[in-house]
Amino acid sequence: MTTPPRVLLALDSGFPDLGAALYRAGRLHAAAWVRVPPLEPAPCPVCPRACEHGVLPSTMVKLADQLERDLDLCDLSQGDERIPEVTVVEWASQIFSLKLARARSRGLSILTGLAAMIMDRSASWGAQTYHFTPSDWKGSLRKPVHQARAVAMLLPAERALLPFYHNEAGIQVYRSDPLDAAALGLWWLTKCHFRELRMHGSWQMMLPFVEPDRRQPHKPQLPGLGLFAHVAGRRPRRRSR
Ligand SMILES: [Zn+2]
Repeated sequence: MTTPPRVLLALDSGFPDLGAALYRAGRLHAAAWVRVPPLEPAPCPVCPRACEHGVLPSTMVKLADQLERDLDLCDLSQGDERIPEVTVVEWASQIFSLKLARARSRGLSILTGLAAMIMDRSASWGAQTYHFTPSDWKGSLRKPVHQARAVAMLLPAERALLPFYHNEAGIQVYRSDPLDAAALGLWWLTKCHFRELRMHGSWQMMLPFVEPDRRQPHKPQLPGLGLFAHVAGRRPRRRSR
C-alpha cells in the first residue's frame, strides 16, 4: 500500500439526488446527501413571465455551496488541510442519450452540471480531478449487489457515517447516492493501491440494508466486472428472492 491522498472527494451525480463522500487518509470521513429542491419560476429580463432561466444556475450554485457546507469544505484557504487533493466524479453517461434526455433532462442536466461545477471548484483548490462513467467502475452488477459489496468493504465506523432512512419494516437502509459516492471513492482508493481490497463481513448480509432495485427487480444478474467482483476470488452468486 502507498500513501493515500490526504483528502479525496467522491461524487455520485445520481438522479434526483446527489451523493458525496470525503475520505481522509484513505478512510471515510464524511458522507452527504444533497437534494435538488423544487425550482420556482422567477422574473427574467428576457421572458414576459416568470421562468427558470435564472433559477437553474442559481440553484446549482446553491447545491454546490450546500455540498461544501455538508462536507466542511467552506472558506478554504491556501494550505488548508481540508482541501481535497483528488476529486473523482461519476458522470452519468445517459445524459448523452436523447431518449433519456427528453425524459429527465432537467434533473440530469442539473446534476451533471453540478458535477462539472464541483470539478471546477476542486481544480481551483488544486485537486486532481477524474471522472468515470458508471460502467467504468460498476460494471454490470445489479445495484443492490454492488452496494452491498461496498458496504461490506467499509469498516463499521465508516458505515456509521452514511446517511440512512428507515424502511416500512423499520430497517435502517443506506441512502443510495451517498453510498454510491462512498463506493466510488473506495473503488478509486483500492484501484490505486491506497487501500486494501477487503471485505469486513459478508456482503450478502448487507443486502437488507441497501435500497432494492426499483427498475428491473427480476433482471437476471450478470457476473460482469463489477465493483469488487474479484474479492476473495468469488463471483457474485445468483440469489433467488
Ligand atoms: Zn426567462
